Amino acid sequence: MAQESSVNRASRRAKILNNHLVQSPSDPTSCLQSNSCLSYTPPEVTESFDFETKEMRKILDFHNLEDRDWLFGVIEQGEMFNGKERGGRMFVIPDCNQTMEQQREMTMKRIEYMLERGVFDGWLMKKGVEAELKKLALFDVIQIFDHSLAVKIGVHFFLWGGAIQFMGTKRHHDKWLRDTETLALKGCFSMTELGHGSNVRGIETVTTYDLKTGEFVINTPCESAQKYWIGGAANHATHTIVFSQLNINGVNKGVHAFIAQIRDADGNISPNIRIADCGHKIGLNGVDNGRIWFDNLRIPRENLLNSVADVSSDGQYLSAIKDPDQRFAAFLSPLTSGRITIATSAVFSSKVGLAIAIRYSLSRRVFSVTPNGPEVLLLDYPSHQRRLLPLLAKSSENWPCNMVLEFLQSLAEFHLIHVHQECREACGGQGLKTENKIGHMKGEFDVQSTFEGDNNVLMQQVSKALLSEYVAAKKKNKAFKGLGLEHMNGPVPVIPSNLTSSILRSNQFQMNAFCLRERDLLNRFAAEVSLYQSKGESKEHAFILSYQLAEDLSRAFSDRAILQTFIDAEANVTAGSLKPKQVSPHKFQQTCLDKSASDSPGKKILRRDEWLEEFSELVMEELFRVNKTKYELKLGIDFHTFLIVSEILLKGEPYLVAEFVDLLPLQNVLALLRSMYALTCLEEDAAFLRYGYLSTGNAADVRKEVTKLCGELRPHALALVSSLGIPDAFLSPIAFNWIDANSWSSVKH
Ligand SMILES: Cc1cc2nc3c(=O)[nH]c(=O)nc-3n(C[C@H](O)[C@H](O)[C@H](O)COP(=O)(O)OP(=O)(O)OC[C@H]3O[C@@H](n4cnc5c(N)ncnc54)[C@H](O)[C@@H]3O)c2cc1C
Repeated sequence: MAQESSVNRASRRAKILNNHLVQSPSDPTSCLQSNSCLSYTPPEVTESFDFETKEMRKILDFHNLEDRDWLFGVIEQGEMFNGKERGGRMFVIPDCNQTMEQQREMTMKRIEYMLERGVFDGWLMKKGVEAELKKLALFDVIQIFDHSLAVKIGVHFFLWGGAIQFMGTKRHHDKWLRDTETLALKGCFSMTELGHGSNVRGIETVTTYDLKTGEFVINTPCESAQKYWIGGAANHATHTIVFSQLNINGVNKGVHAFIAQIRDADGNISPNIRIADCGHKIGLNGVDNGRIWFDNLRIPRENLLNSVADVSSDGQYLSAIKDPDQRFAAFLSPLTSGRITIATSAVFSSKVGLAIAIRYSLSRRVFSVTPNGPEVLLLDYPSHQRRLLPLLAKSSENWPCNMVLEFLQSLAEFHLIHVHQECREACGGQGLKTENKIGHMKGEFDVQSTFEGDNNVLMQQVSKALLSEYVAAKKKNKAFKGLGLEHMNGPVPVIPSNLTSSILRSNQFQMNAFCLRERDLLNRFAAEVSLYQSKGESKEHAFILSYQLAEDLSRAFSDRAILQTFIDAEANVTAGSLKPKQVSPHKFQQTCLDKSASDSPGKKILRRDEWLEEFSELVMEELFRVNKTKYELKLGIDFHTFLIVSEILLKGEPYLVAEFVDLLPLQNVLALLRSMYALTCLEEDAAFLRYGYLSTGNAADVRKEVTKLCGELRPHALALVSSLGIPDAFLSPIAFNWIDANSWSSVKH
């Protein structure tokens, strides 16, 4: 477009102003008379709920729904959670007007309050999947309330506690875990230094072993070796895990982790330790990040976390893993749990932002399209749908946690930064008010893009893992097995030249397109790295030079893995019936239908003895039986089935009416979300055009389909955000009656 001259610009502006003036009534009071005031209409009044939001929440939250609701209640009742009344509703929103010091103390008070109510019971002392899932569910709730609170708790339980659990052995568990769970001590995690963050192997802190006293001696040899950004170090932590090079008899054995005390129980800094504050940050000021110097600090030999390597009392270095690279990888693997929580916190924060922005866009209007007609709801603008609804689809899936975690963390964080910005803009000026939460979350969560290693670096690690898998399979001339690369064993998918709407929405096409991209990028990446190596470059440098393909590949990998979870979620919802995970859907459905004597649609009346006869054995075996003596609910079972079965088993009446939820509408919405996710990925990643997986015509079809999908998801927007499982009090005033919340009567005079 040609540049508009300043004269043209001025005359265009004058015209617009003139239009406003001409349309404005000359008498200001006539304006008041003729135009009725805006009033707030709750979107619940006008919007429809076409699917069961409770069912959708089960898919999204996936586990421990009751535990989550319990903790939401605990937080809402706690005075220190800063409950505030706005527009006739209570909200719990961290107070950003507090100073950094006040925010830090408030974070600590909140932790103590939750401790008293048993929130952390079993977080470290209980073992098993159930305890683990409960902990993660409660942590999700904490993240929804406040990122600072979540990070402070995460550092203590997942980084300090996790290091003791996984890098330590029995002697450490017995000594430290109970006190950690009860917060009798407060732990932090000192890995990063001023001079080294993502490159952990380069840290400069040095630890030597003193044979005479049987102690380790920790030193900060230079300013760049000071520990930096250590959460909890500035004010509260009494102990830390110190990452340091271990020097035995003048030989560097690489990075190891040690336990050191840095304060006494009264908060006095220990001898041989110096601590300084990292100061005010652009967000996360409820966390007291600090810097630590170690001056010949002596610690007992037993304080080395020795799951991978140990030092005997006579100073011998002992490790079953001889290769230093493998030892380092094994040593750092426990950091995984921290990455899961960072990735999930990014997803939950996206959900909060989107719930607020979408609810606001369902009650706020701008401009009318007809003279004197009503103004148009924000979410009825296709452009507004386009900016929010694809993001909602991307935030709606339970991202897989059992795969390479680096990609998840980095992808979730890139997504998060985009979501917060888009939501903030979608709320206009209101997005800027900290009480409306979104703007505040932008600052709070920004740090996630470089937490636990810079995101770009993490993405490169994903590609390296894929390449190792590729090289191993090619070398042994074996089929691909692992990291979801099995699709590479089949024929190369073909993309149809004419992409109709139904093809674009089929999961087969979507998966084919994603697999084609991943397969081709992996081949290209392997070829480029090998070409550089053939020209004499080292493997490491060849990776660095191939960074563009590495980034494209890691994105292709993560998109494909997430699409698979969408497809799985859909498959778990069987239209018109219920599908327990362990029973073949066909068998279960068939038995239901055979035995039913329907008197009304959606209801099946069955005789109790029939149920018991037909189902109890099947159910007990398939759903509950863990081993010969133990029955308990298997994970992943459909909760509805559980309720119905319990009802059958517990009630005494001869007949039971089991109401079946019609899940067809839910399945349809899941399909829309999946297509929205897949097609937005196809639209956004230039690799599809760059390498010719899609033609320009295909790309145009994809873009048109995304717009259509926006229109189809629009009627479900409220139902979708209501399914996110976030109580109203954890959103913000603009998500509800923003007129009352801002009325003169609400102003403190
Ligand atoms: C608020 C906050 C809390 C924190 N809490 C803790 C804590 O409790 N304990 C702890 O140990 N640490 C903590 N950290 C540190 C955090 O883990 C590090 O900041 C992170 O690992 C990144 O390291 P860095 O800041 O040194 O940046 P670097 O890793 O040095 O990165 C600097 C730049 O170099 C680029 N870069 C790095 N490597 C490569 C590469 N291979 N190729 C291309 N470019 C590259 C990056 O993209 C980035 O732009 C915290 C940080 C913050 C901000």
